[in-house]
Amino acid sequence: MKYTMKFLLITVALASCIAVTAEVFQIPAVVCALDNMTMNWTGKRSIQNGKTLHEYKCPGGHKKWVIQ
Ligand SMILES: [Zn+2]
Repeated sequence: MKYTMKFLLITVALASCIAVTAEVFQIPAVVCALDNMTMNWTGKRSIQNGKTLHEYKCPGGHKKWVIQ
């Protein structure tokens, strides 16, 4: 009986750990189409046709505008 409780607690702890990881991965990462490197927001923003565009840059120097 005691053993079952311990197993349940471990399962709950693991489940919450997976939930946190899933939340982190929900943030869409902008990846460069040319070299597959993760792009970072340059801080530049532009509004076109009511949509907000963010400028992203990869370590290779490529830039692209992403609607967010
Ligand atoms: Zn690139």
